[in-house]
Amino acid sequence: MARWERKDVTVRTMATGHELTAPVFYCHGKNERPLAYLQANVHGAELQGNAAILALFDLLDREPPKGSLILVPRVNPVGENQQIGDYVQGVYDFASGLNFNRGYLYLTGPSRSSSACYVDADAFAAANLDSTPQQIRDGFREALQAALETIRDDSKTWGLDARLELALAVQELVVEADVVMDLHTGDRAPRYLYTPAGMRGAARAFGIPFVLEVPPRFGGALDEAAFVPWQDLSDAFHRLGREDVPRFVDGFTVELGSMNTFSMLQGVEDAKRIASALRHYGVLEGLPDEPAYKIAGCAIADYRSIMAPAGGLVDPVVTPGTPVRKGDLIARIVDVSRCRRMPPLSSHAVVEVRAPESGVVLLFHAFSSVPKGVRLVSMMTNTFTI
Ligand SMILES: [Zn+2]
Repeated sequence: MARWERKDVTVRTMATGHELTAPVFYCHGKNERPLAYLQANVHGAELQGNAAILALFDLLDREPPKGSLILVPRVNPVGENQQIGDYVQGVYDFASGLNFNRGYLYLTGPSRSSSACYVDADAFAAANLDSTPQQIRDGFREALQAALETIRDDSKTWGLDARLELALAVQELVVEADVVMDLHTGDRAPRYLYTPAGMRGAARAFGIPFVLEVPPRFGGALDEAAFVPWQDLSDAFHRLGREDVPRFVDGFTVELGSMNTFSMLQGVEDAKRIASALRHYGVLEGLPDEPAYKIAGCAIADYRSIMAPAGGLVDPVVTPGTPVRKGDLIARIVDVSRCRRMPPLSSHAVVEVRAPESGVVLLFHAFSSVPKGVRLVSMMTNTFTI
């Protein structure tokens, strides 16, 4: 039997003094490590990860883990409560306009207050050149934890930026983990996965049909905040001639379908895919599943968006997840004000959108009425099979 614990962490305090909190579930398995961190719903309308975590509760009850897990469903009550009428606007923080998944700290990068790094990976590598890989892993994690403690201590004197409150609460949990999974959804999309470049074994273990490979560069997202410092550490040792220090931590963004959809039944399937990946990492016993189909991958640089060439109403011609050839019709943008010739015909209202290159149409804009210039469609190009 696994041992469970629940804590609640405050991610924002309102003007009325009400604290918005996120529930943190600790599942202590046979061993403390490997430790997985999973969170869901950091973007307010991206709900399905909550169903996946609920199904994981049941799965972990039947199958006590070999390692341990930290599970945080509904991690961002701020985003989820940003409702206007029926509509949840939960990607950007009303208070700052910033994307909730771009505000994390780059712990081996320049600090927010000076050009010095929070943790200097090169200096750490030089000082630990004769340590074993295990000592390096543990020592570097302590250095990252110490950096977060310094930021927390500083906030006791100078106050804590509201934007940073959520990021810091999350990163204090994430820093402990060996593998991190941030559960999102696309706008209108099938299931797809962001993985660190080259992680083909892990990508196959997830068995998610579409994979975008992310280079180790920090852009503010949680998956990058989790794994890029550890890549920096591995690279720093590489520069000093040590090849036996791998990247010890991986981070993934798992996109579970479309926003504003929620299904407990699909959540069971999502939990099976996540459990398979957890087997790959040794958090659960046993071997990962072999995917039943070919997985299509592309580099993130080859994941391209088509901006709407006109305003109007979007008529998707293909469903998200469909392979297309260059020149194929993928959508129509329809605006009746373009009907100037009499008699008016529906064809006069249509601007066709065709695939600029061959690839896979992965994602459509969430809404059916768009201005010119918004991201209409995102597609994978230069795809390969994993
Ligand atoms: Zn998202």
